Amino acid sequence: MAEPLYSLSISQLAPLLAQGEVSPVEVTEQLLARISQKDGAIKAYLTVDEAGARSQAKEAEARLRRGEGTPLTGIPLALKDVLATRGLRTTCASRILENYVPPFDATVCARLRAAGAVFLGKVNMDEFAMGSSTENSAFGPTRNPWNRDYIPGGSSGGSAAAVAADLCLAALGSDTGGSIRQPASHCGVVGLKPTYGLVSRYGLVAYASSLDQIGPLTKEVRDAALLLNCIAGPDPKDSTCVPTTAADYLKDLEQGIGGLKVGVPREFFGEGLDPEVEAAIRQALKTLTGLGAELLEVSLPHTEYAVATYYVVAVAEASSNLARYDGVKYGFRAEGKNLLDMYAQTRTRGFGAEVRRRIMLGTYALSAGYYDAYYKKASQVRALIRRDFDRAFAQCDLIATPVSPTPAFRLGEKLADPLTMYLSDIFTISANLAGIPGMSLPCGFSSLGLPMGLQLLGPPFGEAAIFRAARAFEAATDFHRRRPLV
Ligand code: GLN
Repeated sequence: MAEPLYSLSISQLAPLLAQGEVSPVEVTEQLLARISQKDGAIKAYLTVDEAGARSQAKEAEARLRRGEGTPLTGIPLALKDVLATRGLRTTCASRILENYVPPFDATVCARLRAAGAVFLGKVNMDEFAMGSSTENSAFGPTRNPWNRDYIPGGSSGGSAAAVAADLCLAALGSDTGGSIRQPASHCGVVGLKPTYGLVSRYGLVAYASSLDQIGPLTKEVRDAALLLNCIAGPDPKDSTCVPTTAADYLKDLEQGIGGLKVGVPREFFGEGLDPEVEAAIRQALKTLTGLGAELLEVSLPHTEYAVATYYVVAVAEASSNLARYDGVKYGFRAEGKNLLDMYAQTRTRGFGAEVRRRIMLGTYALSAGYYDAYYKKASQVRALIRRDFDRAFAQCDLIATPVSPTPAFRLGEKLADPLTMYLSDIFTISANLAGIPGMSLPCGFSSLGLPMGLQLLGPPFGEAAIFRAARAFEAATDFHRRRPLV
């Protein structure tokens, strides 16, 4: 029997659609059926848009018949519920936005729609993208498809789990401190955080505006390039988006990595790194060398300050961004004795514990008398972290590191201890502080059968080199081919 359509990657399905061998309606029906059978155990989806997906699939079918398709026409995708979708509930996994239906599309959604993609629905996340496990969702956690007692990672845990469990062909997520790469690593899929400014954030519900980026989670490297080709590029609606047209990320994909210099940062291989993760990364580095890359040791001396810096900058910006949820402009409103009381009740009942903790931390860090000691100091250290990368990239083309110090942990394991949870972001947050691109790609499995990821970091707008190296690694290994039994 031929492979079921839901198990294909975009790159495998697109030619079948283009040649008319299968129809978008057939693929979409298969996926909707699979979601209704399997997602009860995984809980990747917060909203499944059956009617919307069916009508988009019909339109895609007609478009393909007219010969006007793109490589994304008829491809069923899942969207992290932090992206505004016109007419479709966008909750950010928060009570405060539980019934919010945006009147507009995020730019990335509008671009995918224009390309003919089919949106299956909106997927789970940590509330307002704050977390590393998807346990901070107001609507309950998503489970790791490889082992349902484990977290899928976060905050884009729904996106990663949906891709890994074949509940969509690919998904979009957002990454403020690792939220695409870490769940991709824990679920054994490809996840890319693009350079700050490459992809428009218009319609992305803001968490920390100087760090947030939208990016793809996919079954293979080529699919990430396909999606980035569609979503990257200037947008008059987002002034932080660079005005230059994005490159074609498919162009050099198969160029190989002969002669590429890959830096290995000394500071990323110390205490706290799980031996199984370390062994998988060392093996991956050998594979890269075997493919013709040249390894060299580099130093990122300010790495030890990254977590502290991030958790000042991110919470400060979050406290300011989340001030807009006051019971007046959006969604949920609680009754109060007067206006002030209504604000307080709305925010107390509308936000979960982690979001409230971060708003308090951020408000404190920005308050008069403390701003210089915290936010300003953190911004200064951030510049040093960026400089570390500039110096390293003067010596090498890419940097290879682990994504997460451990494979996925058990549900509930770190929930009572926010600090341990924050520390698990150590390898991903520097990229956001520096604004550089980073990808996680499958590089092994732990003795418990949980996936592990290799992180490839590039200089600003160095996505093409990341794609080349990742594709070469993927072609030489088969970790990405394994799928969990769900
Ligand atoms: N885990 C980090 C945090 O909680 C990163 C989240 C993200 O990238 N959105 O802030």
